[in-house]
Amino acid sequence: MKFKSRNKFNILVVLATLFLILGCVCPNANNSRDDSDNPPVSEDQNDISDANRTSDDTSQRNPNKKPDRGDFVVNHSSVTNPRYESLDRSLKDNKVLEKAADRLNRSLALPHDITLRTKACGVINAFYDPRDRSITFCYELMEHFYKLFKSVGDTNDQANERMNRAITFVFLHELGHAVIDAYELPITANEEDAADRCSSYICIEELGEDGVRSILAAADAFAIESKGRTPSKRSLADEHLLQEQRFFNSLCMVYGSNPSKYNYIVSKGYLPKARAVRCPSEYEKTARAWSKLLEPWRKD
Ligand SMILES: [Zn+2]
Repeated sequence: MKFKSRNKFNILVVLATLFLILGCVCPNANNSRDDSDNPPVSEDQNDISDANRTSDDTSQRNPNKKPDRGDFVVNHSSVTNPRYESLDRSLKDNKVLEKAADRLNRSLALPHDITLRTKACGVINAFYDPRDRSITFCYELMEHFYKLFKSVGDTNDQANERMNRAITFVFLHELGHAVIDAYELPITANEEDAADRCSSYICIEELGEDGVRSILAAADAFAIESKGRTPSKRSLADEHLLQEQRFFNSLCMVYGSNPSKYNYIVSKGYLPKARAVRCPSEYEKTARAWSKLLEPWRKD
C-alpha cells in the first residue's frame, strides 16, 4: 500500500518527463527544443493531422523519407486490480499516454498505428505485441522495480527515482521492438539484445545524462535481480539474455559512449577491462546502426 499512496505522484512526473523527452527522437536539436518549449500537448486531433500532412509532404520532397501512414494511439483499458486504481486514474487524468503519443507522432513516421497502454496485467511485465501492434506497460513492473531498489536499502525517494529511470530504459526497449516490427528493420542477431541497444542508443544520444542514469538504473535492477541466483536451464535457453549479461552490456554501452567520462565504470571494477577495451567500438557500431535504421522514419 505504501507503494500506491507514496509514489503515485512521482511516477506521473517521471513518466510525463520520459514521454516528453521521447519526443526528442528527432533529426535535429532545434526541433527538440521547439517541442520542449511548447506548452503541454494539445488534445486537438487537428494538430496530429497537421503533423501527418507535413510528413507526407516531406516524403514527397525527399524520396529517402518514408511516408507517414500511422500514429501512436492510446487505448485505455479499465483497471482490474484495486491496488492500482489511483495510479491508473492519475495516468488517465493527466493524459500521460496521450502526451507520449503526440510527442512520438511529431518525431517518427509510422506505416501503421501502434497502440500505447498502461494497465494492471496480473504479471510483472512490459511487452510489445506484434499481433495488435501494441506496447503495454504493466503497473506490476513499476512496483517490482520499486521493491527491488528498496530491498537494497534505498530510501523511498531513492527507490522512486531509480524505479522511474529503469522504467524509461524498459519503455525504450519496448519501443525498439515496436519499430523493428513496424519498419521491418533488418536485425541479424538476437532481437532482445537489439531492443536493449536501441534503448541505450536513444538514452545516450537523445536524453544525455538523464538517459545514462536510466541505463545505469536498469543495469542495477538487472544486477539485483540476478544476485545469488544460479541460471536455470530455462533461463539459459531463453531468448532474453541473462540479467548479468544485460548488466554488463548496459555498462559497456555507457562506458563505450565516452570512455574518459565514464572511466569509473572500469576503474572501480564494475566492468572488466577485457570487455571494456572493445566497448568504444561496440557503442560506435550500435549508434551508427540505429541512427541509420531510424533515419528514413524521422520527421523533419
Ligand atoms: Zn524485449
